[in-house]
Amino acid sequence: MRIVNSTKQHGLEISKFCFVSDEDSTQYLKTHNVKLFLSADRKDVCNALRRGVSAALVFQQEVQAPNTQLRVVFDGDAVLFSDETDRIFQEKGLEGAVAYEKMMEAVPMGEGPLKAFAVQLGKMRKKFSQEDSPIRTYLVTARSGRDMGIRAIKTLREWGLVIDEAFFMDGAPKGPILSKIQPHIFFDDGLHNIQGAQNVGIPSALVPCDC
Ligand SMILES: [Mg+2]
Repeated sequence: MRIVNSTKQHGLEISKFCFVSDEDSTQYLKTHNVKLFLSADRKDVCNALRRGVSAALVFQQEVQAPNTQLRVVFDGDAVLFSDETDRIFQEKGLEGAVAYEKMMEAVPMGEGPLKAFAVQLGKMRKKFSQEDSPIRTYLVTARSGRDMGIRAIKTLREWGLVIDEAFFMDGAPKGPILSKIQPHIFFDDGLHNIQGAQNVGIPSALVPCDC
């Protein structure tokens, strides 16, 4: 009752509630057609990801949510895309990763854990024109546009996923650009990027890659 009353009191438009006692409550997510699962519990987030549901870990944060259109920022590798290039980077360094990307340029990247959510958001986004859309989506990736941008763009095209703005940061910190965008949420698999975002007061969620 406290939970229901609390959502009412805060004016949240939530009408569906599930109170479960199971240890792993993520088993119901697919049944309820959940497109994004956010939790402060790492175990739940990992369980949801294992079940193929887009999920991320949230932190206690003091934030001022801007009262504008809903802005969502995605990292690229290991969030929208699979972590295949990250793994090459860890094994063979930047040069190896750049060479790999060149070789694979014509092959779309694998799906990352948040692709399904991004596609869902994209479907809603397509119902509106650029000018009066209540949703705006962004890609902010550490990739360099020159050496590793083409494959990312080709992959998004292949998926039919429209992203309003894309930033290829070439390894530069993401905090400053996030602070300019002022998103309602930023998803990344790198804790340093999450910390950078939190330092400038941006609500951020970690997509664990080591579940
Ligand atoms: Mg990443």
